[in-house]
Amino acid sequence: MIKIIELALTPQEAQSEAYIKPMAGNSLAIEATRISQIKILRKSIDARKKDIKVNLKLEVVYDQAPNPETKYLFNYKDVNNAKEVIIVGAGPSGLFAALELIELGIKPIIFERGKNASDRKRDIAMLNRQSKLNPESNYCFGEGGAGTFSDGKLYTRAQKRGDITKVLEILHANGANENILYEMHPHIGTDKLPTIIANIRQIILNCGGQIFFETKVVDLLIEYNKINGVVTKNGDKHLAQAVILATGHSARDIYELLYSKNIKIEAKPFAMGVRVEHPQELINEIQYHRSDQMNFLPPAEYSLTEQINGRGVYSFCMCPGGYIVAAATQENQVVVNGMSPSERNSPYANAGIVMEIRTEDIPELDNYKELAGLIFQEKMENMAKNNGGYKQSAPAQRLVDFVNGKLSNSLPYTSYFPGITSSPLHFWLPENISNALREAFKLFDNKMRGFLTNQAIIVGVESRTSSPIRIPRDVLTMQHVQIQGLFPCGEGAGYAGGIMSSAIDGINCANKIAQKM
Ligand SMILES: Cc1cc2nc3c(=O)[nH]c(=O)nc-3n(C[C@H](O)[C@H](O)[C@H](O)COP(=O)(O)OP(=O)(O)OC[C@H]3O[C@@H](n4cnc5c(N)ncnc54)[C@H](O)[C@@H]3O)c2cc1C
Repeated sequence: MIKIIELALTPQEAQSEAYIKPMAGNSLAIEATRISQIKILRKSIDARKKDIKVNLKLEVVYDQAPNPETKYLFNYKDVNNAKEVIIVGAGPSGLFAALELIELGIKPIIFERGKNASDRKRDIAMLNRQSKLNPESNYCFGEGGAGTFSDGKLYTRAQKRGDITKVLEILHANGANENILYEMHPHIGTDKLPTIIANIRQIILNCGGQIFFETKVVDLLIEYNKINGVVTKNGDKHLAQAVILATGHSARDIYELLYSKNIKIEAKPFAMGVRVEHPQELINEIQYHRSDQMNFLPPAEYSLTEQINGRGVYSFCMCPGGYIVAAATQENQVVVNGMSPSERNSPYANAGIVMEIRTEDIPELDNYKELAGLIFQEKMENMAKNNGGYKQSAPAQRLVDFVNGKLSNSLPYTSYFPGITSSPLHFWLPENISNALREAFKLFDNKMRGFLTNQAIIVGVESRTSSPIRIPRDVLTMQHVQIQGLFPCGEGAGYAGGIMSSAIDGINCANKIAQKM
C-alpha cells in the first residue's frame, strides 16, 4: 500500500528518522514495522507561534517492497548536425534554453562574455581580497550568469509560467542536494553552484552544442526587421535564423545597442534601496521566539513588506548565514547584493530592502526616455562609489543612525569583504527613497521586534534587483515585437526575476523556437 500523510512535528522530532517512522505508523494506525519506505514530498517550517512546528508531507509505503528509485528522464539528443540557434549569455535563462533545445533536437551555440565558472572564481577572489574588479568576469558576468555565485535560492512566484519541477530536477541531476525537491524554501549555496553549472556545460558539449567563453556579442545582424545572426567582439559574424538574447539586466551595453539600432525597448518599474545586515543570532531569536528548539532549526529567514506613500517597500533576496557581495560590473560603481553558502553558516543575515520605483518616479525620464531607469541606476551606483571610499569599499550606516538622520561614529564588523565606510546615506539617497526606507524600517520593527537595532547596518546601494527595461516580445511567439527571430529572454528581457523564473523563461523560449523551426 502507498499512502500520503501529513505530520506536524517539533524541529527535534523532525530531524530523527527513528521518530518519524513510529509517528507515521500512528497516523496510519499500523505497526511501524510494516513500513518499508518513507519519502518526503514537502517540508516547511511554521514559526508563526512559539510552539514551532515542522510540517511534513510524506509518502509511506507499507506491506510491500519499497518503490524502486525513479529518476526524472531527460531526452538529450545528439545535435552535432542539427539546425543551429544562437544564445547570447550563459546565465540560467541561456543554459536552460540550451538544454531544452538539445532535447528538441536543435544545436545551441552559446556566446558568453565572461569566463567559465572555475576561472571566474579567481576573479571573484581578487575582487573580495584585493577589491580588484574585472568588468567582464565578476558576480554578474561569466558562466552561470548572476546565479553562479549567488545564494541559489530557488523559490519563485512564477508557478504558472512553466515547469518548475523540471528545473529543480535538472539542478538535482547535476549535483544539487535532493532536499531542493521538497523543501518549501529550497536553496543550493554558492559553494555548490559552480560545479552544477560546469556539469550542465558538459551535457551541452557532449551532445554537440558549443560554448564560447570570453566572447562578447557586440552587434546584431538585422535585415528588413529579421535577425540573421550576431557579431562578436573580434568582428566575427555568426549566422543563425534565431537568436536568444539572454544577457541579464547588468548588460547595459546591450540595451544601449538596441536603443542605438532603433530596436524597440521600454522603460519598466524596478526597485532601488540598500542591503541591511544583522547578526544572524539576533534574527534567529526574533523569528524563533527564543525557542528551546532553536538548535534544531536552520538559520532563520524573514520576508517583510510595507506600503509607504503608495509605493511598496520590501525585503528582497534575504540571505540567512550569508555574505554581502560586491556586484558591480564597472570600476566607477558600487553595487551590493547577497549570497550564502550551502551551510548558511556565516554569523550574519542580510537582505535587500528596496522601494518600488515606477517609471514616473524616475527624474531622468524626460531626457532619457526608455533608458531613464538605467541612467538612474547608474547615477545611484556612482554615488555609492563616491561615498564608499576606496575601490569597492561600500558606504554604510548603522540602521538606527539612518532612521535618526545621523552619521555613524563607528561601524560594527560586516560580512562585506571589500570593506565599508561610514557615510550619511540618509542625506545622499534620493529623498523619496530615504524617507520611504526610514518609515519602512520603523514599521518592520513592529513586525519583528528588535529588527531596528544599533547592531544592524545598511550598505548601499542595492540597485539591481530587477531590470529597469523591457525588451518587448509577442505574447504568443515570444519573439521581439519588431525583429523576427530575436527572442529576448530571462531577467534582462524584463520577463523574469530570479534563477527559477529565468530558467523557466529559457525553456519556454526554446519551445517557441522549436515550434517556429
Ligand atoms: C550576488 C547575487 C545573488 C543572487 N541570489 C539569487 C538567489 O539566491 N536566488 C535567485 O533566484 N536569484 C538570485 N539572484 C538573481 C539571479 O541570479 C538572476 O535573476 C538570474 O541569474 C538571471 O538569469 P539570466 O539568465 O536572465 O541573466 P544572468 O544571470 O544575468 O546571465 C546573463 C549572462 O549573459 C552574459 N552576457 C551579457 N552580455 C553579454 C554579451 N554582450 N555577450 C555575451 N554574453 C553576455 C553575462 O555575462 C551573463 O553570464 C542573485 C544575483 C546576484 C548578483
